[in-house]
Amino acid sequence: MKFENTLAFAQSLDEKDALKSYRSRFHFPKLEGKQVIYFVGNSLGLQPDNAQDYVNEIMMDWRNLGVEGHFYAEKPWWDYHERFSEKLSKVVGAKPSEVSVMNTLTVNLHLLMTSFYRPTSKRFKIICEEKAFPSDQYMLASQVRFHGYDPKEVIVALKKREGEYNFRTEDILNTIETVGDEAALLLIGGVNYYTGQVFDMKTITAAAKTKGMFVGWDLAHAVGNIKLQLHDWNVDFAAWCSYKYMNSGPGSASGYFVNERYHGLSDIPRFEGWWGHNKKERFLMAPEFVPEPDANAWQISNAPVLSMAPYLASLEIFDEVGMETLIEKRDLIVSYLEFVLNAIGNEIEGDFEVITPAERGTQLSVFLHGYGKKVFHYLMENGVYVDWREPNVIRLAPVPLYCSFEDVYRFGEVLKKALEN
Ligand SMILES: *Cc1c(COP(=O)(O)O)cnc(C)c1O
Repeated sequence: MKFENTLAFAQSLDEKDALKSYRSRFHFPKLEGKQVIYFVGNSLGLQPDNAQDYVNEIMMDWRNLGVEGHFYAEKPWWDYHERFSEKLSKVVGAKPSEVSVMNTLTVNLHLLMTSFYRPTSKRFKIICEEKAFPSDQYMLASQVRFHGYDPKEVIVALKKREGEYNFRTEDILNTIETVGDEAALLLIGGVNYYTGQVFDMKTITAAAKTKGMFVGWDLAHAVGNIKLQLHDWNVDFAAWCSYKYMNSGPGSASGYFVNERYHGLSDIPRFEGWWGHNKKERFLMAPEFVPEPDANAWQISNAPVLSMAPYLASLEIFDEVGMETLIEKRDLIVSYLEFVLNAIGNEIEGDFEVITPAERGTQLSVFLHGYGKKVFHYLMENGVYVDWREPNVIRLAPVPLYCSFEDVYRFGEVLKKALEN
């Protein structure tokens, strides 16, 4: 398609947009009475219009039923988490039995590490990416120390080449080949939070599995954004927060995946609690733990239903739309954003650069070589919400569910002014 950097052209794309009706199903923040351009759905997704009802329903059931709500609420609380499996499995490409919802992301990674990081004197290394999301770095280092090892000797960070912004798959495969026999685990962010690079999870997982290590993916920036096939890729485990592209609300419950190969095992190392115990006998309070037959065996506490409710509301929208349709629009709107950036760059000879590679989802990261944080402040003050990452990057996520092509055009106009000033 031949793009044009004009309002009329952007509006013509909106006319043809299969998802245009969904924009009105999200609440946009306002600045001085005007709806903002929201390109930070990769950080905190907008509130779906049905989320409040889902929360209210629980509040009313609690008010009217008290403890009886566990079993007699509109959506009973005791197995509320099970409502996610079917729909969420389609978002991440898994069997319904392989996915569930609990806790928050870093907590879930820690918990899954009890099963999938089992260092021995021969195999103890962890392969991750350099400059991983800080929480992931702290998580990994503390796990390593917990097992009595020194992170400096254990953590092998994949590197980018000098002067390059992104990781090369061939370099990752080389590292897997070189340290594979000593590696107990590979754990990488499926989509890099800083550059938006999408890793070739299928190829990397296959190579790492061949070497005999466990493979996990942190899907914080991947879920609800790119096509995932966790089961077919033979991934061992994965976890994601759901407040980014999945619009579940701040700090809301996280999702996780455990390959069915590990289901029904009583002897797998795991931190256990009553919500992972066989549901039929959960309230018999028997002393011995009998795991649920699926990923729910990793559950620990009773479900925090109030934090799960907005996630369920949002998931219904994803189910309605389907990832295929979402991805189709994503590719078009991100290409349009790239076009608009280039058009402006040419027009004003702007000294900035998109560092996101062709393997990308919704996010474009722009390195502002010739400019500073003032550009970011200018955008924010003029109703364009983007996010800033040191040293000099703005991240832009024109989320296909609720962003319009007109948003992209208008963003371009504000950016041009910001750069000119
Ligand atoms: C957003 C994000 C997190 C956040 O972790 P929480 O436990 O939800 O606070 C962790 N890892 C990555 C890669 C992220 O992008």
